[in-house]
Amino acid sequence: MLSTLLAMSAIVTPSTMQDFPLTTQHLLRHGRTVHAEAQVFTYSAEGIHAATFAEVADRADRLAAALARLGIEPGDRVGTFLWNNQAHLEAYLAIPAMGAVLHTLNIRLFPEQLAYVVNHGNDKVVIVDASIAPLLARIRGELTCVEHIIVVGEGDTSGLGETLAYEDVLAAETPGYAYPEVDERAAAAMCYTSGTTGNPKGVAYSHRSIWLHSLAVTSAQSLGVNHSDRLLLIVPMFHAMAWGMPFAGWWTGADIVMPQQFLQAAPLADIIRETRPTLSGAVPTVLNDLLHNAADADLSSLRGIVCGGSAVPRSLIEGFDRTFGVPVTQAWGMTETSPLAAIASVPKGTDPANELDWRVRTGRLLPGVELRICDDDGTALPWDGKAQGEIQVRGPWITASYYLDPAPEKFQEGWLRTGDVGSVEPNGFVQISDRAKDVIKSGGEWISSVDLENELMGHPSVREAAVVGVPDDRWDERPMACVVVAEGASADAADLRDYLSDRVAKWWVPERWTFIDEVPKTSVGKFDKKVLRAHYADGQLTVVEL
Ligand code: ADP
Repeated sequence: MLSTLLAMSAIVTPSTMQDFPLTTQHLLRHGRTVHAEAQVFTYSAEGIHAATFAEVADRADRLAAALARLGIEPGDRVGTFLWNNQAHLEAYLAIPAMGAVLHTLNIRLFPEQLAYVVNHGNDKVVIVDASIAPLLARIRGELTCVEHIIVVGEGDTSGLGETLAYEDVLAAETPGYAYPEVDERAAAAMCYTSGTTGNPKGVAYSHRSIWLHSLAVTSAQSLGVNHSDRLLLIVPMFHAMAWGMPFAGWWTGADIVMPQQFLQAAPLADIIRETRPTLSGAVPTVLNDLLHNAADADLSSLRGIVCGGSAVPRSLIEGFDRTFGVPVTQAWGMTETSPLAAIASVPKGTDPANELDWRVRTGRLLPGVELRICDDDGTALPWDGKAQGEIQVRGPWITASYYLDPAPEKFQEGWLRTGDVGSVEPNGFVQISDRAKDVIKSGGEWISSVDLENELMGHPSVREAAVVGVPDDRWDERPMACVVVAEGASADAADLRDYLSDRVAKWWVPERWTFIDEVPKTSVGKFDKKVLRAHYADGQLTVVEL
């Protein structure tokens, strides 16, 4: 017996640390007390509404009590169909802390996909903004699981059946909700991927993963969110939890500015001028819009903008440096990675003249995330900056499975297969060359659609450019460039071909060119290449062949 005990103690020395649960309840308590005076600003047509963290926390308590009164129990899902606003933050805080699961619904999904995710998530209650209630009303009849709908604000709620008013249900409760004990491994929130192929897949974040990821967002190695910051949440709170920024702000007492639906260049410029945020996050499409349609805006309050969701063109980073004097920092991740996995922080000792060469890369691996690249057989490849393979990741905020959807093809030996193809430098800097499904296979060799797009978008007459693979008799597949010409500019296929020929390998240069008014976008604002491929297949595009 004694020898067994001795043998055990030789293997593991017991820790004397507290087994303190990593839950969002702790986060809620911290922000409401330590940062009681920090503020949340919500922009609307009527002006800016301000509330302190203490007030928001009290309202979160009331929301938790109201949801419990409606029958929400630990483990139940509550959907949010909301813009970025104070009510959405209250839902972020209340729902996980009461042990239920916050299900952020993408307000831009097609009706059938929206019905699918609400039903698949089995949401019992949905909190909806009155301004977009008609979008939910279209599918109300199909939402068999939804027992109650709570409406924020005033608007047309016909078609939703019986509803409750958000302010009324909160007014009926008092602050000081007795949150039950929750397990750090239990689901706290869920997000569905936007479902580029097949049905969207659900990712359920645990309390623990949110706790760790949101602190990583505060790290100086990533966004460095801190109490001197004022965050402008442009990235929707339904897009991978707004990249962890709401919780990072709550931990640290950074003020939070909520722009609601005012996401076009002109109102964004107004919001920035009036609220003077220090840090923001947005996909390239939104920043491109600011650069082209609000070049005279005053963005001087911003110390930086994090940009990701798709490759960030060099021209965009340079454009922001030159026009606004605001550094755009590229980050990489996905819904499945909470989402932050890598961020392009310039390695120390870099000659300032070469900094841009690092900033345009995808990003350096964050502490807390492990990464490997694998060839088609699943063999790990070297980090030599050259070998290209599928990127696989693992770590405490990386998903290990999808919600009620096994998808074994998405995992390998405990690693998540990201579907992104790229290389890694010896110093952990990742370079994504393409999504596996977008890479163009010409005569058995790979062409990166992302590289071609980035080069094209560097041309002064090009506003946007998407490159897709199209069938080709000789080479199987060849790139086709779909170009949006900048306002007031002109460019033809031959000019652009010559421009590209100086910048990429000759055999990469597309023969097929089409000029379009706008690149179709996905529900989270990325280039929707499957729509372009379909338009080409249907003969809807006018194509110039050179
Ligand atoms: P969806 O898969 O529906 O687009 P996500 O936002 O989860 O939704 O997308 C994650 C994907 O976005 C990544 O797998 C990658 O292909 C792409 N992505 C994100 N950030 C970058 C980046 N900095 N560079 C290139 N691609 C990126």
